[in-house]
Amino acid sequence: MSSQGLLGIIWHDRYLEISFSHPMIRDLSKRRIREFIELARQRLQFLEIRPEPATEEDLLRIHAREYVTKLKEVSKLPYVGFLDEGDTVHYPGIFEDVLLVLGATKTALKYSEFLDYVYNPLGGFHHATYGRALGFCPVNDVAFGALELLRRGAKVAIVDVDAHHGNGLVDYLYDKPVLKINVFAYDGRFFPGTGKPEERGIGEGKGFNYNVGLPLGSGDDAFEVALSLLQKVEEFDPTHVIVVAGVDGHKDDELKSLNLTCNSYNLLGLKVARLSRLTGAKVIGYGGGGYGRMSAECMVAFLEGLKGIRNRTETPTETSKEIMDKVKGLVELFSKGLI
Ligand SMILES: [Zn+2]
Repeated sequence: MSSQGLLGIIWHDRYLEISFSHPMIRDLSKRRIREFIELARQRLQFLEIRPEPATEEDLLRIHAREYVTKLKEVSKLPYVGFLDEGDTVHYPGIFEDVLLVLGATKTALKYSEFLDYVYNPLGGFHHATYGRALGFCPVNDVAFGALELLRRGAKVAIVDVDAHHGNGLVDYLYDKPVLKINVFAYDGRFFPGTGKPEERGIGEGKGFNYNVGLPLGSGDDAFEVALSLLQKVEEFDPTHVIVVAGVDGHKDDELKSLNLTCNSYNLLGLKVARLSRLTGAKVIGYGGGGYGRMSAECMVAFLEGLKGIRNRTETPTETSKEIMDKVKGLVELFSKGLI
């Protein structure tokens, strides 16, 4: 394996038009995808991979038939509406876009057989559950990938650092022996409100779930402390690491939560690359959320990290002692197995 690692980025020009987000931030999420591919082409060496659309049968493997039927029906309506209580939109042709987005995961799995890192910028829809859309997510592409890998006998770890807890993803895998490290903003109210630390999994999944909720306003130093739990991934020795590298915890994100800079996402990339070298695990990354002027920059900083490139261009943010003590306490409970 080369020290730089071979990177593939899933890309389709249709991505420039797709957003399932609330109408008020739809333009922002489309802009970050456009900026991302421009920046990536300037700064990174990668193989561009065209996604193959998934089939309706694929969709039925992770979502209820009634929900899939509903998606198909709303896709034929000539207007924009909501799939849920007011976050996730539907629009004419959404069904085809959902199949494309889901297919990107199938394509990523295929290419990860011979690339070290495969990244899908328009993916990581971790809120969708079996029966419904939630939080800008009409399909749970990450759960689909993880379950498919499990079916093939792979040993899977998930590192989800999107600022929002991946409730849907955790639901799908709660009783599965998939190691899940979830680092997110948490105060019990911030969307989606889930992610209590004592929720450690059930059955075969018992002890496999880590909910590392960071207090709102946590900075780069607190994020780095949370990342020390990647040690658990190293010990687990997976064949595949799925990273939901949502960048909406950046301090300038419109959905204010954490106080991170792009440095944190670069550090994540560096650490995941190290894990991959140590364990030989293949890495499948997703863009997750990101609704700010720095989103695309943070996505590229993550990929630069994977390639072993340090990118610390922003002034690091610091966390108050009170919050830092909380984060350190939580991480210690997890690392010592006290929770
Ligand atoms: Zn998010």
